Amino acid sequence: MAKRTIDSELFAEAREYLVGGVNSPVRAFNYAGCDPLIIKKGRDSKVYDYDGNKYIDYVLSWGSLILGHANPGVIKDIKKVIENGLGFGTTNEYEVGLAEIIMKAIPFIGKIRFVSSGTEAVMGAVRLARGYTKRDKILKFERSYHGHADYLLVKAGSGLATLGLPASAGVPHDFIKDTLISGYGDKKAVRNIFKKHGKKIAAVIFEPCGGNYGVMPPDIDFLKYLRAIIAKNRALLIADEVMTGFRFDFGSLSWKLGIVPDIICLGKIIGGGLPIGAYGAKEEIMNHLAPLGDVYQASTFAGNPVVMQSGLSTLRELGKLKNRYSFLSELTGYLAESIRESAKERNIELVVKNFGSMFSLKFKEKRQFQRFYRKLLGSGVYFAQSEFEANFLSFSHTRADIEKTICVAKIALDAI
Ligand SMILES: *Cc1c(COP(=O)(O)O)cnc(C)c1O
Repeated sequence: MAKRTIDSELFAEAREYLVGGVNSPVRAFNYAGCDPLIIKKGRDSKVYDYDGNKYIDYVLSWGSLILGHANPGVIKDIKKVIENGLGFGTTNEYEVGLAEIIMKAIPFIGKIRFVSSGTEAVMGAVRLARGYTKRDKILKFERSYHGHADYLLVKAGSGLATLGLPASAGVPHDFIKDTLISGYGDKKAVRNIFKKHGKKIAAVIFEPCGGNYGVMPPDIDFLKYLRAIIAKNRALLIADEVMTGFRFDFGSLSWKLGIVPDIICLGKIIGGGLPIGAYGAKEEIMNHLAPLGDVYQASTFAGNPVVMQSGLSTLRELGKLKNRYSFLSELTGYLAESIRESAKERNIELVVKNFGSMFSLKFKEKRQFQRFYRKLLGSGVYFAQSEFEANFLSFSHTRADIEKTICVAKIALDAI
Protein backbone atom coordinates (compact mmCIF):
# COMPACT_ATOMS: atom_id res chain seq x y z
CA MET A 1 0.00 0.00 0.00
CA ALA A 2 1.26 3.48 -0.86
CA LYS A 3 2.30 5.72 2.03
CA ARG A 4 0.68 9.14 2.09
CA THR A 5 2.29 11.01 4.96
CA ILE A 6 2.97 14.36 3.28
CA ASP A 7 -0.52 14.31 1.78
CA SER A 8 -2.01 13.76 5.24
CA GLU A 9 0.02 16.60 6.72
CA LEU A 10 -1.07 18.94 3.94
CA PHE A 11 -4.69 18.02 4.49
CA ALA A 12 -4.38 18.62 8.23
CA GLU A 13 -3.09 22.10 7.40
CA ALA A 14 -5.88 22.68 4.86
CA ARG A 15 -8.40 21.87 7.58
CA GLU A 16 -7.09 24.76 9.66
CA TYR A 17 -8.09 27.25 6.98
CA LEU A 18 -10.72 25.75 4.71
CA VAL A 19 -14.08 24.41 5.81
CA GLY A 20 -13.51 20.69 6.13
CA GLY A 21 -10.21 21.24 4.34
CA VAL A 22 -11.95 21.68 0.99
CA ASN A 23 -13.64 24.12 -1.36
CA SER A 24 -16.28 21.64 -2.52
CA PRO A 25 -17.86 19.00 -0.24
CA VAL A 26 -17.17 15.67 -1.99
CA ARG A 27 -13.43 16.46 -2.09
CA ALA A 28 -13.25 15.69 1.64
CA PHE A 29 -13.48 11.91 0.90
CA ASN A 30 -15.91 11.54 3.83
CA TYR A 31 -17.95 8.99 1.94
CA ALA A 32 -14.89 6.91 1.11
CA GLY A 33 -13.79 7.18 4.73
CA CYS A 34 -10.14 7.92 4.06
CA ASP A 35 -7.73 10.82 3.82
CA PRO A 36 -8.23 12.80 0.63
CA LEU A 37 -5.80 12.74 -2.22
CA ILE A 38 -3.77 15.94 -2.44
CA ILE A 39 -2.62 16.09 -6.03
CA LYS A 40 0.63 17.77 -6.95
CA LYS A 41 0.56 17.30 -10.69
CA GLY A 42 -1.04 15.44 -13.54
CA ARG A 43 0.17 14.15 -16.88
CA ASP A 44 -2.00 12.23 -19.39
CA SER A 45 -4.06 9.63 -17.50
CA LYS A 46 -2.01 9.89 -14.29
CA VAL A 47 -1.94 12.14 -11.24
CA TYR A 48 0.81 12.31 -8.61
CA ASP A 49 0.52 13.10 -4.90
CA TYR A 50 3.11 14.87 -2.72
CA ASP A 51 4.47 11.55 -1.48
CA GLY A 52 5.48 10.64 -5.02
CA ASN A 53 2.73 8.07 -5.58
CA LYS A 54 1.23 7.71 -9.03
CA TYR A 55 -2.46 7.07 -9.69
CA ILE A 56 -4.49 6.26 -12.79
CA ASP A 57 -7.10 9.02 -12.68
CA TYR A 58 -10.78 8.31 -13.42
CA VAL A 59 -12.04 11.56 -11.91
CA LEU A 60 -10.27 13.86 -14.36
CA SER A 61 -11.32 17.09 -12.67
CA TRP A 62 -14.90 15.78 -12.50
CA GLY A 63 -15.05 14.87 -16.16
CA SER A 64 -13.52 18.07 -17.50
CA LEU A 65 -10.29 16.65 -18.88
CA ILE A 66 -11.27 14.48 -21.82
CA LEU A 67 -7.74 14.73 -23.27
CA GLY A 68 -6.16 13.80 -19.94
CA HIS A 69 -3.88 16.03 -17.87
CA ALA A 70 -1.55 18.73 -19.19
CA ASN A 71 -2.05 18.11 -22.90
CA PRO A 72 1.15 19.63 -24.39
CA GLY A 73 -0.60 21.40 -27.29
CA VAL A 74 -3.21 22.97 -25.03
CA ILE A 75 -0.62 24.10 -22.46
CA LYS A 76 1.56 25.62 -25.17
CA ASP A 77 -1.37 27.61 -26.60
CA ILE A 78 -2.44 28.88 -23.17
CA LYS A 79 1.10 30.06 -22.39
CA LYS A 80 1.09 32.22 -25.50
CA VAL A 81 -2.15 33.92 -24.45
CA ILE A 82 -0.99 34.46 -20.85
CA GLU A 83 2.07 36.41 -22.02
CA ASN A 84 -0.27 39.13 -23.30
CA GLY A 85 -2.19 39.65 -20.08
CA LEU A 86 -4.75 37.66 -18.13
CA GLY A 87 -7.98 39.40 -18.98
CA PHE A 88 -9.54 42.64 -20.07
CA GLY A 89 -13.28 42.22 -19.63
CA THR A 90 -13.94 42.97 -23.29
CA THR A 91 -14.67 40.86 -26.36
CA ASN A 92 -11.66 38.88 -27.58
CA GLU A 93 -10.77 36.69 -30.56
CA TYR A 94 -10.59 33.51 -28.46
CA GLU A 95 -14.22 33.59 -27.33
CA VAL A 96 -15.27 34.09 -30.95
CA GLY A 97 -13.13 31.09 -31.92
CA LEU A 98 -14.56 28.88 -29.18
CA ALA A 99 -18.13 29.93 -30.03
CA GLU A 100 -17.53 29.06 -33.68
CA ILE A 101 -16.17 25.58 -33.03
CA ILE A 102 -18.97 24.76 -30.55
CA MET A 103 -21.69 26.05 -32.86
CA LYS A 104 -20.34 24.07 -35.80
CA ALA A 105 -20.48 20.94 -33.63
CA ILE A 106 -23.95 21.68 -32.21
CA PRO A 107 -25.99 23.02 -35.12
CA PHE A 108 -29.13 23.98 -33.20
CA ILE A 109 -27.25 26.71 -31.32
CA GLY A 110 -27.86 30.03 -33.10
CA LYS A 111 -26.14 32.19 -30.47
CA ILE A 112 -24.11 31.37 -27.39
CA ARG A 113 -23.24 33.08 -24.08
CA PHE A 114 -20.17 32.13 -22.03
CA VAL A 115 -20.07 32.25 -18.24
CA SER A 116 -17.59 30.92 -15.67
CA SER A 117 -19.25 27.75 -14.31
CA GLY A 118 -21.88 25.15 -15.07
CA THR A 119 -23.98 26.52 -12.22
CA GLU A 120 -24.05 29.94 -13.86
CA ALA A 121 -24.88 28.42 -17.25
CA VAL A 122 -27.93 26.70 -15.77
CA MET A 123 -29.00 29.82 -13.86
CA GLY A 124 -28.73 31.86 -17.05
CA ALA A 125 -30.65 29.28 -19.06
CA VAL A 126 -33.48 29.10 -16.52
CA ARG A 127 -33.76 32.89 -16.28
CA LEU A 128 -33.80 33.14 -20.06
CA ALA A 129 -36.52 30.48 -20.31
CA ARG A 130 -38.59 32.33 -17.71
CA GLY A 131 -38.08 35.69 -19.42
CA TYR A 132 -38.84 34.28 -22.85
CA THR A 133 -42.00 32.38 -21.88
CA LYS A 134 -43.11 34.90 -19.23
CA ARG A 135 -43.80 31.93 -16.94
CA ASP A 136 -42.26 31.07 -13.56
CA LYS A 137 -42.38 27.33 -12.94
CA ILE A 138 -39.69 24.85 -13.83
CA LEU A 139 -39.66 21.06 -13.67
CA LYS A 140 -36.59 19.07 -12.69
CA PHE A 141 -36.03 15.38 -12.04
CA GLU A 142 -35.18 13.67 -8.79
CA ARG A 143 -31.51 12.72 -8.50
CA SER A 144 -30.38 15.09 -11.20
CA TYR A 145 -27.83 17.76 -10.35
CA HIS A 146 -27.76 21.14 -12.05
CA GLY A 147 -25.30 23.12 -9.95
CA HIS A 148 -25.92 24.91 -6.68
CA ALA A 149 -28.57 27.53 -7.53
CA ASP A 150 -31.12 27.72 -4.67
CA TYR A 151 -34.16 26.63 -6.67
CA LEU A 152 -32.40 23.58 -8.13
CA LEU A 153 -30.96 22.17 -4.90
CA VAL A 154 -34.01 20.04 -4.29
CA LYS A 155 -33.80 16.24 -4.35
CA ALA A 156 -30.50 16.71 -6.16
CA GLY A 157 -27.67 14.28 -6.86
CA SER A 158 -23.91 14.82 -6.51
CA GLY A 159 -22.71 16.11 -3.11
CA LEU A 160 -26.23 16.28 -1.61
CA ALA A 161 -26.75 12.59 -2.43
CA THR A 162 -23.29 11.71 -1.13
CA LEU A 163 -24.02 13.46 2.18
CA GLY A 164 -27.55 12.04 2.27
CA LEU A 165 -29.20 15.47 2.32
CA PRO A 166 -32.68 15.91 0.77
CA ALA A 167 -32.04 19.63 0.27
CA SER A 168 -29.73 22.38 1.41
CA ALA A 169 -30.29 24.49 4.51
CA GLY A 170 -30.39 28.20 3.76
CA VAL A 171 -32.80 27.92 0.85
CA PRO A 172 -36.01 29.81 1.71
CA HIS A 173 -39.21 27.94 0.93
CA ASP A 174 -40.31 30.79 -1.33
CA PHE A 175 -37.30 30.23 -3.56
CA ILE A 176 -38.31 26.68 -4.39
CA LYS A 177 -42.06 27.13 -4.64
CA ASP A 178 -41.79 27.28 -8.43
CA THR A 179 -39.66 24.15 -8.69
CA LEU A 180 -41.70 21.09 -9.63
CA ILE A 181 -40.20 17.62 -9.27
CA SER A 182 -40.86 14.30 -10.92
CA GLY A 183 -39.10 10.95 -11.05
CA TYR A 184 -37.01 10.49 -14.18
CA GLY A 185 -38.82 8.23 -16.63
CA ASP A 186 -42.18 8.69 -14.91
CA LYS A 187 -44.48 9.69 -17.79
CA LYS A 188 -47.57 9.61 -15.61
CA ALA A 189 -46.12 12.06 -13.09
CA VAL A 190 -45.03 14.37 -15.89
CA ARG A 191 -48.47 14.20 -17.50
CA ASN A 192 -50.15 15.06 -14.19
CA ILE A 193 -47.77 17.94 -13.55
CA PHE A 194 -48.47 19.39 -16.98
CA LYS A 195 -52.20 18.88 -16.51
CA LYS A 196 -52.07 20.90 -13.31
CA HIS A 197 -49.43 23.52 -14.14
CA GLY A 198 -49.00 23.33 -17.93
CA LYS A 199 -49.66 26.99 -18.67
CA LYS A 200 -47.27 28.10 -15.92
CA ILE A 201 -44.27 25.94 -16.77
CA ALA A 202 -41.42 27.87 -18.37
CA ALA A 203 -39.04 24.95 -18.79
CA VAL A 204 -38.12 21.37 -18.01
CA ILE A 205 -34.45 20.75 -17.28
CA PHE A 206 -32.80 17.34 -17.64
CA GLU A 207 -29.44 15.58 -17.94
CA PRO A 208 -29.32 13.56 -21.20
CA CYS A 209 -27.26 10.97 -19.34
CA GLY A 210 -27.37 11.29 -15.58
CA GLY A 211 -23.94 11.51 -14.04
CA ASN A 212 -24.56 12.81 -10.56
CA TYR A 213 -26.38 9.86 -8.99
CA GLY A 214 -24.17 7.25 -10.46
CA VAL A 215 -24.49 6.90 -14.21
CA MET A 216 -28.12 6.98 -15.37
CA PRO A 217 -28.27 6.11 -19.08
CA PRO A 218 -30.84 7.97 -21.17
CA ASP A 219 -34.43 6.75 -21.40
CA ILE A 220 -35.04 7.76 -25.00
CA ASP A 221 -38.71 6.84 -25.04
CA PHE A 222 -39.28 9.07 -22.00
CA LEU A 223 -37.28 11.91 -23.51
CA LYS A 224 -39.37 11.76 -26.70
CA TYR A 225 -42.50 11.93 -24.58
CA LEU A 226 -41.06 14.86 -22.69
CA ARG A 227 -40.08 16.69 -25.88
CA ALA A 228 -43.64 16.33 -27.21
CA ILE A 229 -45.53 17.35 -24.06
CA ILE A 230 -43.25 20.37 -23.62
CA ALA A 231 -43.84 21.54 -27.19
CA LYS A 232 -47.59 21.07 -26.78
CA ASN A 233 -47.57 23.26 -23.67
CA ARG A 234 -45.27 25.87 -25.22
CA ALA A 235 -42.65 25.40 -22.54
CA LEU A 236 -38.93 25.03 -23.25
CA LEU A 237 -36.67 22.00 -22.89
CA ILE A 238 -33.32 22.77 -21.27
CA ALA A 239 -30.64 20.12 -21.77
CA ASP A 240 -28.07 20.35 -19.00
CA GLU A 241 -25.08 19.05 -20.91
CA VAL A 242 -22.48 20.50 -18.57
CA MET A 243 -21.18 16.94 -18.13
CA THR A 244 -22.37 15.25 -21.34
CA GLY A 245 -21.42 17.92 -23.91
CA PHE A 246 -18.49 16.62 -26.03
CA ARG A 247 -18.26 13.55 -23.75
CA PHE A 248 -20.02 10.99 -26.01
CA ASP A 249 -19.47 12.54 -29.39
CA PHE A 250 -17.99 15.74 -30.76
CA GLY A 251 -21.03 17.76 -29.72
CA SER A 252 -24.33 17.32 -27.90
CA LEU A 253 -25.62 14.03 -26.49
CA SER A 254 -29.28 15.10 -26.77
CA TRP A 255 -28.74 15.83 -30.45
CA LYS A 256 -27.10 12.42 -30.92
CA LEU A 257 -30.12 10.82 -29.21
CA GLY A 258 -32.49 12.67 -31.55
CA ILE A 259 -33.88 14.99 -28.87
CA VAL A 260 -33.40 18.64 -29.81
CA PRO A 261 -33.58 20.88 -26.75
CA ASP A 262 -34.55 24.56 -26.87
CA ILE A 263 -31.66 25.64 -24.68
CA ILE A 264 -28.43 23.75 -24.03
CA CYS A 265 -26.06 24.26 -21.08
CA LEU A 266 -22.40 23.37 -21.44
CA GLY A 267 -19.38 23.43 -19.15
CA LYS A 268 -16.59 21.13 -17.97
CA ILE A 269 -14.98 19.75 -21.19
CA ILE A 270 -15.40 22.98 -23.22
CA GLY A 271 -13.04 24.77 -20.80
CA GLY A 272 -10.33 22.15 -21.07
CA GLY A 273 -9.86 22.21 -17.28
CA LEU A 274 -10.35 25.93 -16.61
CA PRO A 275 -13.60 27.32 -15.11
CA ILE A 276 -16.30 27.68 -17.73
CA GLY A 277 -19.98 27.43 -18.53
CA ALA A 278 -22.04 28.32 -21.59
CA TYR A 279 -25.63 28.33 -22.73
CA GLY A 280 -27.01 28.54 -26.20
CA ALA A 281 -30.25 28.37 -28.16
CA LYS A 282 -31.67 29.52 -31.45
CA GLU A 283 -31.27 33.23 -32.07
CA GLU A 284 -34.88 34.12 -31.48
CA ILE A 285 -34.57 32.90 -27.88
CA MET A 286 -31.02 34.15 -27.22
CA ASN A 287 -31.89 37.65 -28.43
CA HIS A 288 -33.99 38.06 -25.29
CA LEU A 289 -30.70 38.37 -23.38
CA ALA A 290 -29.27 41.82 -22.59
CA PRO A 291 -27.88 43.85 -24.35
CA LEU A 292 -30.42 42.94 -27.08
CA GLY A 293 -33.28 41.95 -24.80
CA ASP A 294 -34.53 42.41 -21.26
CA VAL A 295 -33.21 39.25 -19.56
CA TYR A 296 -30.18 40.43 -17.62
CA GLN A 297 -27.08 38.34 -16.98
CA ALA A 298 -23.58 39.76 -16.66
CA SER A 299 -20.12 38.72 -15.49
CA THR A 300 -16.67 40.12 -14.76
CA PHE A 301 -14.75 37.07 -15.94
CA ALA A 302 -16.97 35.51 -18.63
CA GLY A 303 -15.10 34.87 -21.87
CA ASN A 304 -11.71 35.25 -20.19
CA PRO A 305 -9.05 34.88 -22.93
CA VAL A 306 -7.00 32.22 -21.11
CA VAL A 307 -10.07 30.08 -20.44
CA MET A 308 -11.36 30.54 -23.98
CA GLN A 309 -8.01 29.53 -25.49
CA SER A 310 -7.93 26.49 -23.23
CA GLY A 311 -11.37 25.46 -24.48
CA LEU A 312 -10.56 26.25 -28.08
CA SER A 313 -7.30 24.26 -28.11
CA THR A 314 -8.99 21.37 -26.30
CA LEU A 315 -11.84 21.20 -28.80
CA ARG A 316 -9.41 21.49 -31.74
CA GLU A 317 -7.43 18.51 -30.40
CA LEU A 318 -10.64 16.67 -29.63
CA GLY A 319 -11.90 17.31 -33.16
CA LYS A 320 -8.99 15.25 -34.46
CA LEU A 321 -10.09 12.34 -32.25
CA LYS A 322 -13.72 12.49 -33.37
CA ASN A 323 -13.63 8.98 -34.77
CA ARG A 324 -12.16 7.53 -31.59
CA TYR A 325 -15.15 8.13 -29.32
CA SER A 326 -16.43 4.63 -30.05
CA PHE A 327 -13.06 3.19 -29.05
CA LEU A 328 -13.30 5.07 -25.75
CA SER A 329 -16.78 3.60 -25.17
CA GLU A 330 -15.50 0.10 -25.92
CA LEU A 331 -12.61 0.49 -23.52
CA THR A 332 -15.00 1.73 -20.81
CA GLY A 333 -17.41 -1.13 -21.53
CA TYR A 334 -14.57 -3.63 -21.22
CA LEU A 335 -13.48 -2.16 -17.88
CA ALA A 336 -17.04 -2.09 -16.52
CA GLU A 337 -17.78 -5.64 -17.67
CA SER A 338 -14.53 -6.96 -16.19
CA ILE A 339 -15.28 -5.44 -12.79
CA ARG A 340 -18.87 -6.73 -12.99
CA GLU A 341 -17.63 -10.26 -13.75
CA SER A 342 -14.96 -10.13 -11.05
CA ALA A 343 -17.57 -9.17 -8.44
CA LYS A 344 -19.88 -11.96 -9.63
CA GLU A 345 -17.10 -14.54 -9.35
CA ARG A 346 -16.66 -13.48 -5.74
CA ASN A 347 -20.38 -13.43 -4.98
CA ILE A 348 -20.26 -9.71 -4.24
CA GLU A 349 -23.38 -7.72 -5.02
CA LEU A 350 -22.12 -4.86 -7.11
CA VAL A 351 -24.00 -2.81 -9.68
CA VAL A 352 -21.70 -1.40 -12.36
CA LYS A 353 -23.32 1.06 -14.72
CA ASN A 354 -21.67 2.37 -17.83
CA PHE A 355 -22.61 4.54 -20.78
CA GLY A 356 -20.09 5.82 -23.32
CA SER A 357 -16.93 6.77 -21.45
CA MET A 358 -18.67 7.06 -18.05
CA PHE A 359 -19.17 4.39 -15.40
CA SER A 360 -20.19 4.12 -11.76
CA LEU A 361 -20.22 1.47 -9.05
CA LYS A 362 -22.75 0.75 -6.32
CA PHE A 363 -22.12 -1.84 -3.65
CA LYS A 364 -24.80 -3.25 -1.38
CA GLU A 365 -23.23 -1.58 1.63
CA LYS A 366 -21.24 1.61 1.97
CA ARG A 367 -18.69 -0.29 4.10
CA GLN A 368 -17.88 -2.48 1.12
CA PHE A 369 -17.31 0.53 -1.06
CA GLN A 370 -15.01 2.05 1.55
CA ARG A 371 -12.86 -1.08 1.81
CA PHE A 372 -12.75 -1.45 -1.96
CA TYR A 373 -11.93 2.21 -2.39
CA ARG A 374 -9.08 2.36 0.08
CA LYS A 375 -7.46 -0.67 -1.49
CA LEU A 376 -7.85 0.87 -4.92
CA LEU A 377 -6.30 4.15 -3.90
CA GLY A 378 -3.50 2.39 -2.04
CA SER A 379 -2.69 0.49 -5.23
CA GLY A 380 -2.56 3.49 -7.51
CA VAL A 381 -6.09 3.75 -8.93
CA TYR A 382 -8.10 6.93 -8.29
CA PHE A 383 -11.88 6.44 -8.69
CA ALA A 384 -14.56 8.97 -7.71
CA GLN A 385 -14.68 9.09 -3.91
CA SER A 386 -18.44 8.59 -3.76
CA GLU A 387 -20.72 5.98 -5.36
CA PHE A 388 -22.94 8.85 -6.50
CA GLU A 389 -20.28 10.49 -8.63
CA ALA A 390 -19.39 9.24 -12.09
CA ASN A 391 -16.00 7.98 -13.26
CA PHE A 392 -14.60 8.95 -16.64
CA LEU A 393 -12.09 7.79 -19.19
CA SER A 394 -9.99 10.19 -21.23
CA PHE A 395 -8.34 9.85 -24.62
CA SER A 396 -5.03 9.49 -22.79
CA HIS A 397 -6.08 6.30 -20.99
CA THR A 398 -4.28 3.32 -22.47
CA ARG A 399 -5.17 -0.33 -22.65
CA ALA A 400 -2.37 -0.94 -20.13
CA ASP A 401 -4.09 1.50 -17.70
CA ILE A 402 -7.31 -0.45 -18.07
CA GLU A 403 -5.62 -3.84 -17.57
CA LYS A 404 -3.88 -2.58 -14.46
CA THR A 405 -7.14 -1.17 -13.12
CA ILE A 406 -8.92 -4.50 -13.65
CA CYS A 407 -6.10 -6.28 -11.86
CA VAL A 408 -6.19 -3.87 -8.91
CA ALA A 409 -10.00 -4.01 -8.78
CA LYS A 410 -9.82 -7.80 -8.36
CA ILE A 411 -7.42 -7.44 -5.44
CA ALA A 412 -9.64 -4.75 -3.95
CA LEU A 413 -12.72 -6.97 -4.30
CA ASP A 414 -10.83 -9.76 -2.51
CA ALA A 415 -10.23 -7.34 0.36
CA ILE A 416 -13.94 -6.76 0.97
C1 LIG B 1 -20.88 19.85 -12.92
C2 LIG B 1 -22.31 20.05 -13.26
C3 LIG B 1 -22.96 21.27 -13.03
C4 LIG B 1 -22.33 22.40 -12.27
O1 LIG B 1 -21.19 22.90 -12.88
P1 LIG B 1 -20.15 23.75 -11.99
O2 LIG B 1 -19.10 24.16 -12.98
O3 LIG B 1 -19.66 22.81 -10.93
O4 LIG B 1 -20.88 24.90 -11.42
C5 LIG B 1 -24.25 21.42 -13.49
N1 LIG B 1 -24.89 20.42 -14.13
C6 LIG B 1 -24.29 19.24 -14.37
C7 LIG B 1 -25.04 18.18 -15.10
C8 LIG B 1 -23.00 19.00 -13.93
O5 LIG B 1 -22.44 17.81 -14.14
